[in-house]
Amino acid sequence: MVEFQGQISHRFARAKTLAAWRANKVKQDTICDADSLLLAAAKFHGVPASTPCPICNKTNLREVLWVYGDELKRAAGSARSLTEIEQFAAAGLTFTVHRVEVCTNCKWNYLLMTAIAAPSYKSDT
Ligand SMILES: [Zn+2]
Repeated sequence: MVEFQGQISHRFARAKTLAAWRANKVKQDTICDADSLLLAAAKFHGVPASTPCPICNKTNLREVLWVYGDELKRAAGSARSLTEIEQFAAAGLTFTVHRVEVCTNCKWNYLLMTAIAAPSYKSDT
């Protein structure tokens, strides 16, 4: 088990960005700019989001978890499945997790949440 501590949601900033886009204050190509690495990570490590893409309304929206932190060594800065994240936490590592939504259709991407992942001791014994 893994515990996410100090979660910071970025949904308010996301809503502001989308409102600016709807009001034509932001060009679509500046917010739909996922690079090939992010798109590949979304395909291979992401899970389908519960809502359609806010830009193109397609169901290609996926959520990817990225991990950061010195304790991860070479795994730092990579996309990981929740199972892998649980394994890192089970190994006693503390690290930062970013949840990013990525649309593989229009390349919309946004950081939804940041948190610290740490081992959960609740399930022991
Ligand atoms: Zn889209």
